Amino acid sequence: MTSKNEKAYNLLKNSIKKNSISHFYIFHGPNNVGKKKLAYSFSKLLLCENQDIEKPCSECDSCSKIDEKKHFDIVFIDSNSKIEGIDENKSDQIRLPHVQEINRLSNLGPFMGNYKIFILDSAENLNNEASNAFLKLLEEPPKSSVFLFLVNDLSSIYPTILSRAQKINVLETSKEDIKSYIYEKYDLEESIIHKVINFSLGKIEIAEKLSSDPSLIEDYYESYDRFFDFCNSDISTRMEFSQKFSSRYRTDRNAIHKELNLWIDFCNITFNAIYSKDKSVIFEKNLSDIFQTSQINIIVLELIRTLSNLKSNANPRLVFDVMSLKLPLKREEIING
Ligand SMILES: [Zn+2]
Repeated sequence: MTSKNEKAYNLLKNSIKKNSISHFYIFHGPNNVGKKKLAYSFSKLLLCENQDIEKPCSECDSCSKIDEKKHFDIVFIDSNSKIEGIDENKSDQIRLPHVQEINRLSNLGPFMGNYKIFILDSAENLNNEASNAFLKLLEEPPKSSVFLFLVNDLSSIYPTILSRAQKINVLETSKEDIKSYIYEKYDLEESIIHKVINFSLGKIEIAEKLSSDPSLIEDYYESYDRFFDFCNSDISTRMEFSQKFSSRYRTDRNAIHKELNLWIDFCNITFNAIYSKDKSVIFEKNLSDIFQTSQINIIVLELIRTLSNLKSNANPRLVFDVMSLKLPLKREEIING
């Protein structure tokens, strides 16, 4: 395993150790970051016949079949996968017959080991019909089934599907790699580099953008302040925000899309800080001081839902009102209200 995905890998390894394996994972991150590789490494951990060791043996029958990509209990599916009895798929969608096939194989159970693993590459290509069928399958998944979705962009997955999955962020580049890259290329103060690294969330293109124009960092902070104030306020104040958002949306919808995507990033930055127990301060006001982790998860889902509602041309005022109501209230608001 390369070091860059070590965090994700260890997280998965611990879930096996603690016997808390989820039925459904979404590995998300940009192209070519090793999502597929991580999926196969995780499969090896699950299927290796010499189970009581720290890492897969790479020698048993299971391990060698996985290396040859010939393991019977790993089913790899993308929009090009051929399924018997249906016409060749000319669209780039993952369609209902694909999910029906998953359902059939899943009910047959594993041949060799304890798990049947389904890897769906570019799972954002699931069309509506297929997504619904998959949700149905998730209601009562066969015990042995593990579904691994590989996606670039979380916001293109149905919120109802997202909420059922354990999401694993597969970062493009480690913080250390980004840091040395910026050091070489730009002449920046240490404090700025620190911010660039945290804001880039492992995406080198964002690190480049911020390093070449650090004034953008100020925009990020302003956006964060708006986000924090929005989350931190009561319903009536949120409704005022909602009105401002919707009138802005009518004149510049891209700005609002960008802002909401940034807010999702801010949640991920907060998660990263929580999980890595990083004590270095990047924001003065901390989201995790007013919300529990599970609530921040709900915030992410609501932001994604808001973006997809806006894309489907719903009335913006209504969409922002709904977001204002559905976003969790900070702890004191619940106690006092
Ligand atoms: Zn093995």
